[in-house]
Amino acid sequence: MTATDASCAVCGNSPCRLVSETSAWALYECNRCGFLFKVGEKTDYESLDLDAYLVFAYNRSSEVDEICACLQPDYPDVQGVCILEIGCATGEVLNELRNRGAKVYGVEPSHVAAEHARSKYGLTTVFEGYFERNPAGMQPEVFLLLDVIEHLDDPSLLLAKIASAMSATSVLVVKTGDSGSWLTDHCKDRWAYIHLPQHRSFYCKRTLDYACKKAELHVDRIFRYRDPYGGIAWRKLIKNVVKAVLLCMTPKDSYLHRRLYIDVANDHLLAVIRKASRI
Ligand SMILES: [Zn+2]
Repeated sequence: MTATDASCAVCGNSPCRLVSETSAWALYECNRCGFLFKVGEKTDYESLDLDAYLVFAYNRSSEVDEICACLQPDYPDVQGVCILEIGCATGEVLNELRNRGAKVYGVEPSHVAAEHARSKYGLTTVFEGYFERNPAGMQPEVFLLLDVIEHLDDPSLLLAKIASAMSATSVLVVKTGDSGSWLTDHCKDRWAYIHLPQHRSFYCKRTLDYACKKAELHVDRIFRYRDPYGGIAWRKLIKNVVKAVLLCMTPKDSYLHRRLYIDVANDHLLAVIRKASRI
């Protein structure tokens, strides 16, 4: 793959700029919508065992606090609100939302992860498979896509499917890494988030605007978060600023540059999205 045949899955722009290459993948950037994407190695999710999912199986209440804060203007309280999480993995977020009174559903392609959600938390409304409109006849008021779209080469099909299942009043909350944050924008391919093998696509607000418009959706509001799983990671943040300064001062091919990465901190966003026809 060369720069001339790497086209942007979000806005169709081609060619996209080659940012960097490793032995496993090449990273491109679209200068129109800001989409950053990897071409190369892919993860076989079917082959992942439960251990690969259990790294996220910890208390997610801080993250759920942030999700609830984003929903406040529409849903001051999640009590009784019907919430569907698409790609719910082992169910920790759904379990927390259910504890706060929400009526929760989940869809999860991994058999082992969905089974864990059902057996550990008794989440009987977690279904195995990919999202299709209206599974089990539910009418979600809130759709959640948390740390999902960075795993897809092209988010268009999934966003269009969700849009077709949304009502005029329902909202979609998307959470993903923010490639437009100060640190990640300055360090690009030295951002550790990019180097996770399962991550393929990276978004800033501009990219989400393009992706949503294509699916007849509209980004209503964006919240930037310091830590991917809730709260403020001050130590990581300070460490990252020091690293970023060193990276900016260091020649690209130096020993130092190759060894330094910006950790995942201060670079996640939550977008609250509606159907475009509502505005
Ligand atoms: Zn683009």
